[in-house]
Amino acid sequence: MKARYEHIINTLPEHVALIAVSKYYPASAISELYELGQRSFGESRASELKTKAESLPKDIEWHFIGHLQRSNVKHVVPYVSLIHSVDNLRLLEEINKQAMKLNRTTDCLLQIRIAKEETKTGFTMLECRNMLEAGDWKGLQNIRICGLMCMATNTDDDQQIREEFSSVNSFFQEIKSSHFSKEDCFCIRSWGMSDDRRIAIEEGSNMVRIGTALFGEH
Ligand SMILES: *Cc1c(COP(=O)(O)O)cnc(C)c1O
Repeated sequence: MKARYEHIINTLPEHVALIAVSKYYPASAISELYELGQRSFGESRASELKTKAESLPKDIEWHFIGHLQRSNVKHVVPYVSLIHSVDNLRLLEEINKQAMKLNRTTDCLLQIRIAKEETKTGFTMLECRNMLEAGDWKGLQNIRICGLMCMATNTDDDQQIREEFSSVNSFFQEIKSSHFSKEDCFCIRSWGMSDDRRIAIEEGSNMVRIGTALFGEH
């Protein structure tokens, strides 16, 4: 794992943050990377996040990257530093409510559905634009929208992957200029996983979420 970690760290440009996606890997694998200096880890299930967050060092920054049900928000908010997978306004409202109870502000990304597969969740760009224009989110004092997340289609066609990331990158610039000011820190572009991280970075990513290339195949 040390060699894989060093390879990834050494090939990531400085402005790109690495989220080590530790879902389904044991706490011991997280500890191993923690010892090497990694502090940001991504999980996709509420119960697994809770178990790991409660047993591992408190200075780990946990990122929630999986599909999030409203009923699970209360189990996630106490532990996370960033939720990548917000895909509807009601979810954002629930995150706001739970964050308010804990007297904190929870950072969120809006997940954009760009991949062609039916199974991928997220806002379409149109839905996202409409939600932002409607403006209800502006009253939510305990969340902060910090950027966008997306997953490309799972394909060998690099050109298709590139076009998908590129269109989300343009969309990011569009909504940043129409809905956010400099003070809002709308600045996170979370795209790129083990297999498509190089293309993602070329197409504007500044946060990659990497599982198998770090931890190995399950
Ligand atoms: C599992 C997962 C990843 C990591 O995928 P790898 O291909 O293992 O790097 C990244 N993002 C999300 C949303 C995931 O669910």
